Amino acid sequence: MNRREFLETVAAAAALPSFVRQPGTNEWGAPVFDLHFHMRPQPAANLAHLDGAGVTKANLLTRGAALDQVKAIDAAAPGRFTWFNSYDVTKPDAEQVLTQAVKAGAQGFGEMKFHVAADGPELRRMYALAADLRVPILIHFQEVDHFKGEGAWSTGYAKTFESILKTYPKTTFIGHADAFWANVSSDYHNEEAYPSAAISKGGVTDRWLADHPNLFGDLSANSGNNALSRDPSFTPDFLKRHQDKLFFGSDCSCTDGHGGGVSQANNPAAARLAGKCVARETLTVLKRSSSDEVFRKIVSGNIHKLLRIPA
Ligand SMILES: [Zn+2]
Ligand SMILES: [Zn+2]
Repeated sequence: MNRREFLETVAAAAALPSFVRQPGTNEWGAPVFDLHFHMRPQPAANLAHLDGAGVTKANLLTRGAALDQVKAIDAAAPGRFTWFNSYDVTKPDAEQVLTQAVKAGAQGFGEMKFHVAADGPELRRMYALAADLRVPILIHFQEVDHFKGEGAWSTGYAKTFESILKTYPKTTFIGHADAFWANVSSDYHNEEAYPSAAISKGGVTDRWLADHPNLFGDLSANSGNNALSRDPSFTPDFLKRHQDKLFFGSDCSCTDGHGGGVSQANNPAAARLAGKCVARETLTVLKRSSSDEVFRKIVSGNIHKLLRIPA
């Protein structure tokens, strides 16, 4: 939005009689659900980000024992949070721990971010368990280090993941992170974490979202924002094409929903979003690149349906 558009928007909003501003609507014009929100230890810190960014509800991503903290956050803001749980998939008790979490109320697995192959035995047993428990599994795919020695996560996505989608038709997969989003372009070969060139049509992520009903996309982080920002001629049609398969998420680590503190966890490769709130940046791109109906589905409708959350 340029300055003139901004001033027009402000003027238009000021001219609206107050009764037109319905209760429950917010600055984004629709309820917003943040699928990718890493739980913060203090309940108030979680709410500060949601309220600051104009987010209605969020899904807490937790790892290991988290139930007491989830309960405390839920008590501070009833009805505003769901949660997913994750656990080291290389540990022999991973299935037991995650089953227990789902019994205690976790509505999904995630985020799953481990130094294993996307089609390896550790994650395969998680894919099978997610289907058994009927919960989605959110996976971080990354092939390129952000800093020296980081290592890769859920590797082999572009080469092997279609066979996983076929082998586990009852599993609901939610893809996220660098390799998932860089592969909207067909010319990607793990050269860099966040390519900025125009998108070549027919990337595997774009194709698989169309071909496989069990694959969904989490638009969070610099990776999701970059995929939506790098080629404005690509974005509106992509969002329209996959309007029932995409979820808004932030993965933002800023303190206040306005870019305060450290957003993007000081990731040097994601400097383009330094000092900005990823939630705000991605909601802004989504808003200007989609119809009201598509925007509403992506920022809350689709996830409400999947997790059976009342709007
Ligand atoms: Zn991640
Ligand atoms: Zn933020």
